Amino acid sequence: ATSVAELLELRRLDAAAGLGSRHVLDESHALRAGIDAQELVVHYQPVVDLPTGRWEGVEALVRWEHPQRGLLAPAAFLPVAEASGLIVPLGRQVLTLACTQVALWRDTPPTGGGAGGGARDLHVAVNLSGRQLGEPDVVDVITDALLVSGLPAQALTLELTETSLAGTGAQVDAALAAIRARGVRLALDDFGTGYASYAYLQRFQPDVVKIDRCFVAALGRSERDDLLTSSLIGLGLQLGCGVVAEGVETPEQARMLADLGVTTAQGYLFSPPRTAQALGARLVAP
Ligand code: C2E
Ligand code: MG
Ligand code: MG
Ligand code: MG
Repeated sequence: ATSVAELLELRRLDAAAGLGSRHVLDESHALRAGIDAQELVVHYQPVVDLPTGRWEGVEALVRWEHPQRGLLAPAAFLPVAEASGLIVPLGRQVLTLACTQVALWRDTPPTGGGAGGGARDLHVAVNLSGRQLGEPDVVDVITDALLVSGLPAQALTLELTETSLAGTGAQVDAALAAIRARGVRLALDDFGTGYASYAYLQRFQPDVVKIDRCFVAALGRSERDDLLTSSLIGLGLQLGCGVVAEGVETPEQARMLADLGVTTAQGYLFSPPRTAQALGARLVAP
């Protein structure tokens, strides 16, 4: 915690969560130590072009390699990161790491002596929290990450949720406009799960909408479920957004999504998020 307001917020969270001896305050100290010890790592999940099966990009997803508790998913530590403000340095680290890794993949000659670089056009999506977006230097942080990594701005997409945009105003709108002016694309993540999707579409005008996995899971369940998912997809398409389906787990879901006009998807069907090392060989294949 870096300010009195943040300490108070942590106390409030402690009380609300009734965490007993495992206080949020303690957890934020542990997270800070983990960040300093470089235990926070980035995994990557392929973003797949449905018609060809080609991996056209990756989404960067943070993990904590905890020495005692094992590999922790974001749900286990992002709430504390948000409440303590640690999400700001953490998010910056993830952004720089992801841009650097993907720039490296793009520059790697294909394995097996093939002619065309398999990852030459690879792009990367990085999640940005509302807290990061509200920082006065957010545009500089993004510009720096592109500069130090050598990644072209066109290869970067920043993912925002309706929750992270809620309650923000002119300052965030200006930051988003500046980010976009640099050529970075913006995606609305978990599309359909917020409480005012239409309002955010109007204000934020994303380049990409990511259909939340609950709407993918609902496909085929009932006529009503199908209608809801297909209208969300249709809304995205008609607004001229790229539409990415999240959480595709079965070939049947992939087929139904393709029928609904979706050309890009992520999910366990194709690959779970993996370490850079585990994905590397396949990514740079010709
Ligand atoms: P998200 O951005 O919507 O990411 C998609 C989540 O769905 C990931 O969970 C991913 O592992 C999971 N997923 C992918 N394919 C499937 C599938 O086929 N089935 C199922 N059931 N799940 C699938 P993960 O990695 O636990 O991340 C959860 C959330 O944490 C992310 O949701 C994102 O909002 C947040 N997050 C992750 N990394 C970062 C980060 O670096 N910064 C910020 N601010 N948020 C992050
Ligand atoms: Mg995301
Ligand atoms: Mg999502
Ligand atoms: Mg999410």
